[in-house]
Amino acid sequence: MECASVNKKSIDRIEGAIREVHDFPKPGIVFKDITPLLADGELLRLTTQMFQETLEGSEVDKVIGIDARGFIFGAALADRIGAGFIPIRKKGKLPGETSGVAYSLEYGEAHVEIHKDAVREGERVILVDDLLATGGTAGAAVKLIKDLGGQIVCVSFLIELEFLGGRKNFDSDVRVEAILTY
Ligand code: AMP
Repeated sequence: MECASVNKKSIDRIEGAIREVHDFPKPGIVFKDITPLLADGELLRLTTQMFQETLEGSEVDKVIGIDARGFIFGAALADRIGAGFIPIRKKGKLPGETSGVAYSLEYGEAHVEIHKDAVREGERVILVDDLLATGGTAGAAVKLIKDLGGQIVCVSFLIELEFLGGRKNFDSDVRVEAILTY
């Protein structure tokens, strides 16, 4: 990704702070562990700045984060740009009236939910998560937001595992950005 104010050295530092854990949570998966990045205050701020740059100057009313690591970057971004934050959570975690959608995982099914009153018709939002893998999770989140009438300005990830082809889950009208691509 081109970044005007975050230089290549910063991107390399962010990438260097992401730890790869082999065979977690199951054999054959290389898990991208962002906790060392989160523990470095300067890198966390830089990463949040880069999420802001994916907006390319567009204004949003709300930042929506996906359970659970999307909450961390999403809330930091919301604070930075003065927008509200909305969580999309795994089934059964939100206390109010919810809309939900099921989607396929590599093995089995998952289900995400949003509060029905969280997004108002026409509100402009950015959807944030740490990582785009097969795209099932973020694709389901986009559906929830659109069904509530939200206007998606951008779907932004810290990491995209390009070889898994997750972008195919998004309609062509949805702008998808990733800070780091593998
Ligand atoms: P997917 O629905 O396949 O795009 O999976 C995306 C979700 O699973 C994200 O919320 C990620 O946090 C998590 N995830 C999937 N694969 C990995 C991975 N290799 N390393 C870290 N997190 C992952």
